[in-house]
Amino acid sequence: MKDEREQLPSAVDDAADVMSNYDPPAYDDPAPEPEYEGPKLLHMTHPFLSKAPSEIDIEKEDLKQLKADLLEAMYYYRGIGLSANQIGIDGKYFVVGDGKEEEPFEKAFFNPSIIGVSKEEDHLREGCLSFPELWLMVKRPIQVTLKFFNSDGEEIVETYEGTTARVILHEYDHMLGANFTHRVSKLKLERGLKAVAKKHKKHQRRIQRLLKT
Ligand SMILES: [Zn+2]
Repeated sequence: MKDEREQLPSAVDDAADVMSNYDPPAYDDPAPEPEYEGPKLLHMTHPFLSKAPSEIDIEKEDLKQLKADLLEAMYYYRGIGLSANQIGIDGKYFVVGDGKEEEPFEKAFFNPSIIGVSKEEDHLREGCLSFPELWLMVKRPIQVTLKFFNSDGEEIVETYEGTTARVILHEYDHMLGANFTHRVSKLKLERGLKAVAKKHKKHQRRIQRLLKT
């Protein structure tokens, strides 16, 4: 586990350094969304997210329930992937789902470990529910082979590619107590954060105008 974290391409310390000076903007939205009864999302700067979650007891836990609860939160927050630690659960698992009405692709990965990735990589824009509005171009392998327990408690090995592989690799970073900010250079991260601040200012001005009319 420790090795995997050390293998992150950009220095974890660099990202931590940038993020420690970062103050997430607060939105004073005139029309806040109705309160969600479910779990709250932890922001990326929350210390809980920089700690690798504990493996879960496959025999003891109700895996189907854990999957359903996490998927529900994921869909509420409009994500295509969510890790349990992002909603404050100390458990090494995550879900991915495409939200399709018919035959949705929905999967939970309990105690996952990566056993192989493709040499071929690509760059794609990524966001994270724990960090609204931050978008970063992240380089990742296009294919991943993963060993994990499914929600029936069976240990399986599967290979994924394309968007699914991308989402899995993104979520897997959360299993290491890491995230997508550790996959880019300090410069890229600073640029990304600047863009968030700019967008936030624009949003605030729009709200101020709305409040005046
Ligand atoms: Zn994320």
